[in-house]
Amino acid sequence: MKVHGYGATAAKKDLVPVTFERPDPQAGEIGFKVTHCGVCHSDVHQVNDDWGNTVFPSVPGHEIIGRVTSVGAGVTKFKVGDHIGVGCMVNSCQTCEHCQSDEEQYCIGPKGATLTYNGPTKPDGTNTYGGYTTHMVVREEFAITIPAGLEPEYGGPIMCAGVTTYSPMKHWNLQKGQTLGVAGIGGLGHMAVQLGRALGAKVIAFTGHESKRADILKLGADEVVVTSDEDAMTEHAMSVDLMINTIPYPFDPAPFISVMKKNSTIVIVGNFISIPEFVPADLVFNRIQIAGSLIGGVKDTQEVVDLCAKHGIRPQIKMIKMEEINEVMATLKENSADHEFRHVIDMESMHAQVDGGKAKAESIEQPVRGEVVGA
Ligand SMILES: [Zn+2]
Ligand SMILES: [Zn+2]
Repeated sequence: MKVHGYGATAAKKDLVPVTFERPDPQAGEIGFKVTHCGVCHSDVHQVNDDWGNTVFPSVPGHEIIGRVTSVGAGVTKFKVGDHIGVGCMVNSCQTCEHCQSDEEQYCIGPKGATLTYNGPTKPDGTNTYGGYTTHMVVREEFAITIPAGLEPEYGGPIMCAGVTTYSPMKHWNLQKGQTLGVAGIGGLGHMAVQLGRALGAKVIAFTGHESKRADILKLGADEVVVTSDEDAMTEHAMSVDLMINTIPYPFDPAPFISVMKKNSTIVIVGNFISIPEFVPADLVFNRIQIAGSLIGGVKDTQEVVDLCAKHGIRPQIKMIKMEEINEVMATLKENSADHEFRHVIDMESMHAQVDGGKAKAESIEQPVRGEVVGA
């Protein structure tokens, strides 16, 4: 079917209205109308080609909520009219050891997991286009059930920011009564604070911004530490059992290491770029690990969505119209570490453009992208 959306045709250019063909749902796939899509920092990085792997045209969006409009043969989990979500992946090999253990994000099949955008579709290697579009198609195994207790507009950010912070809490076995540190209180961090509380941890939020203290406390953090306040950092020396570090740019790890307990782990989820040189003695003397973690599998994604529904955990969102996307991306670029809420595109604004016949769009192809890059 003909689909409308917003995409970038080259790096560091504004997104423009685009139109392209999506195939109809095949066996095991579901088609859906997109109702909401969160705006993630990854979207900004991808359309700017900050990671050097973007295939253009690039149509971002991986915090997607929609309503099922059609189902292919053999689909059993969903029916027309259901609210569903799609996060960062739309497919994987489903047979390798990681897929078999519900960690499709680490798929080691021939092409790895298929990312929702800028990911190669199997078997032909076609680029994928994400949720800044009117309609999508997904394999049913990768669709998330949006429970009745969760308003759909809040669902998108949970499937990226939520699961990215929840999955390491599970993997590193965060226990009730332990102390969770969350560094960087933006889109990911504000979810991590709430999820840590729901799991029964004491939460210390580390932020660069004194001005955010009151808001962070409202999210449920037990304490807020401003990282530039050396006295406060010293007071919290060796106090944290697990840290989720969401800072999305290179940061000096030394101050964060200083607040970690013996045998603890700092998990990097936001910075794919570099860590400046640091003296590892404090790691050695306290057997501290610095680790990384990538989003989460489908099972964890469903779990965190259900957990948020049950505990009243919501991302802080601001609804925008599709045509406001370039302004929003510009503000995210400037203020990348600590944006206080997640922008969510009300896709009705896109549907209204299309239904009103007002959508002027550039027609794009789904280019065959060939080899997998950075998937
Ligand atoms: Zn994301
Ligand atoms: Zn796999």
